[in-house]
Amino acid sequence: MEKPLARNHPVENKRAFRKALLKWFQTNAKSYPWRKTSDPWSILVSEIMLQQTTVASVLANRRFEKFLKQFPDIETIATAPEETILRAWEGLGYYNRVRNLQKTARAVLHDFEGQFPSDAETLQTLPGIGRYTAGAVSSFAFNHPAPIVDGNIARVISRLLNCQKEVDSTAGQKIIWQTAAELLDASKPRLFNSALMELGQTLCSPKSPGCLICPVRDYCQTRSPESLPVKKPRKKFVQVDEHAFFWIEKNKLLLSKGQDSRRQGFWKLPLRSPEQCAHLEPISQHRYTITHHKVTLYLYHAKPPRLLGGEKYHLISRLPDLPIATPVRKILAAKTIELGL
Ligand code: SF4
Repeated sequence: MEKPLARNHPVENKRAFRKALLKWFQTNAKSYPWRKTSDPWSILVSEIMLQQTTVASVLANRRFEKFLKQFPDIETIATAPEETILRAWEGLGYYNRVRNLQKTARAVLHDFEGQFPSDAETLQTLPGIGRYTAGAVSSFAFNHPAPIVDGNIARVISRLLNCQKEVDSTAGQKIIWQTAAELLDASKPRLFNSALMELGQTLCSPKSPGCLICPVRDYCQTRSPESLPVKKPRKKFVQVDEHAFFWIEKNKLLLSKGQDSRRQGFWKLPLRSPEQCAHLEPISQHRYTITHHKVTLYLYHAKPPRLLGGEKYHLISRLPDLPIATPVRKILAAKTIELGL
């Protein structure tokens, strides 16, 4: 069925728009663990965690609760070794997020006497905190009237306005942020931002928006919501071939520590160039995707020929405590079982 034609512009009728949205949220708000707290550290953790990980995945594995149990405050994470924080973040990917969480905790302790700043502008001076996260912490933790725009809100607003500009362009971002600020209910910023975000997460979904039951359909200017938001062409995946050595000595696995930007701080199988492996037959081949790399990993059951400059090997017996990229951990688990090791 065709989407109904909107009679009113959302910004020109913002009071009625807010009322309709908040009324809907009153009976449709989801009960997320991060909605039950106003502690800025907990809210920052949830926001950073949810940046590249879906709500469903964070909830299913209780990642938010587990992380906060291990690091309940900024003091605990500020003094934790890097290996411990990377291990705690394992499986969530984009590990600079947890490194920045630690840097932020240290900055709050040292530069703000342990108290999180409450305004979005100052929050943005902290490591890894951009405009969205700053607005989220300011409005969710302190109930300050700071607008927020994430992917869900950008989609909702671009549809409300029937915006044909690319939402990830400078001009598109300017329009979306300005509208988020104009629509914001300054008397209930925490509630309003949560409601707008939830509308994007539920009814105003990317592929099949529920326009007929949408609480703000009377203000929505688009006739073809599925075509919005307009976005810049996607960054292409980079294909990478890797050649790795799988070697066990005295019941210990030979690993080295990652130095390149993709694996910094992580334990990995020693890698070599294809020429250095030309005389060997791979025992298996694995494909996985990590950030924007599509990796094909060829695995050789052999001891790596010699150390490369700056490289150090370690014979490891206990993998569970070490940070290892999830796809590599899966390969290791499968291989050790298959080879009866
Ligand atoms: S679901 Fe989205 S596109 Fe549909 S009426 Fe509501 S805001 Fe507009």
